[in-house]
Amino acid sequence: MAVDLHLHSVFSDGSETPSVIVDMAARVGLTGIALTDHDNLDGVPEAAAAAAAAGIAFVPGTEISVNWASGPMHLLIYFLEPGEGPLQDRLEEIRAGRANRNTQIVDRLRSLGIEIDFDEVLAEAGGTGVGRPHFAAVLVRMGCVADVRDAFDRYLAKGRPGFVDQKHLDAEEAIALARASGAVPVIAHPHTLGLVAADYAAAFEYLAAVGLGGIEAYYAEYPLEMRRHLAGLCENLALVATGGSDFHGSYKPGLAVGRGYGDLVVPDMALEELRSARGGGSQGAEGPAR
Ligand code: AMP
Ligand code: FE
Ligand code: FE
Ligand code: ZN
Repeated sequence: MAVDLHLHSVFSDGSETPSVIVDMAARVGLTGIALTDHDNLDGVPEAAAAAAAAGIAFVPGTEISVNWASGPMHLLIYFLEPGEGPLQDRLEEIRAGRANRNTQIVDRLRSLGIEIDFDEVLAEAGGTGVGRPHFAAVLVRMGCVADVRDAFDRYLAKGRPGFVDQKHLDAEEAIALARASGAVPVIAHPHTLGLVAADYAAAFEYLAAVGLGGIEAYYAEYPLEMRRHLAGLCENLALVATGGSDFHGSYKPGLAVGRGYGDLVVPDMALEELRSARGGGSQGAEGPAR
């Protein structure tokens, strides 16, 4: 019995609709999923309805980038419900910052002699949730780069000439806002934190003390021993070991919902433990079983 707690749809930088993702999850026999589009909850109603119809447990979520001492951190925020709330309200500011950054990326690419048209990027994104992968896809179509990866390597990744940074919340503030919103914050793909493995335990212990709820231990890109190592750290610190594929459809080729690169198994216990980790937030411990 397996789940997938890290999925991107057309509402951010995935290529598939929430309904199609739910179909894919049902086909591989998953018992639960979380939708984790970047910076928004716009796909939650569609995903929740499709999951209910398919008899799959559903967790509303989002993925945000935050500042952290050793490097950028992505936080998965689980059980964040659409509507108003301490973190929900800040997501609006984050989306405004993203829109502003997107405009600056266009200017930057144009200053490099690449006549990219933002309307085409917007169309690539389906009108909403524009992210760098959409710029990458347009650059591929323009013949400027070979593929999405090449677009990041040459232009869009941090340190490359088309990269524009954006203001982010600090990790501690984001964690507090998530908790105040009745949600559970979890560190996504911890290898991106810029920490050596020996420093993981101390960092996680510090973050657990300020409200972190879990670590994405069962990440598709990780070898089995790394998944096990991270799950062990979670056990020691009473954190939930979560996991997922980080499915983006055609924007991240080779990844399958639930299965990752073929060997992913996220135990369904992860979803149950996440539910328990909601604790006494504003939504209460006994939230709707969705
Ligand atoms: P954004 O949120 O617009 O800054 O875009 C970040 C997204 O771009 C990530 O969530 C990934 O989906 C994708 N991404 C980031 N770095 C790379 C990379 N080096 N190669 C391919 N995709 C990447
Ligand atoms: Fe993404
Ligand atoms: Fe991420
Ligand atoms: Zn992701």
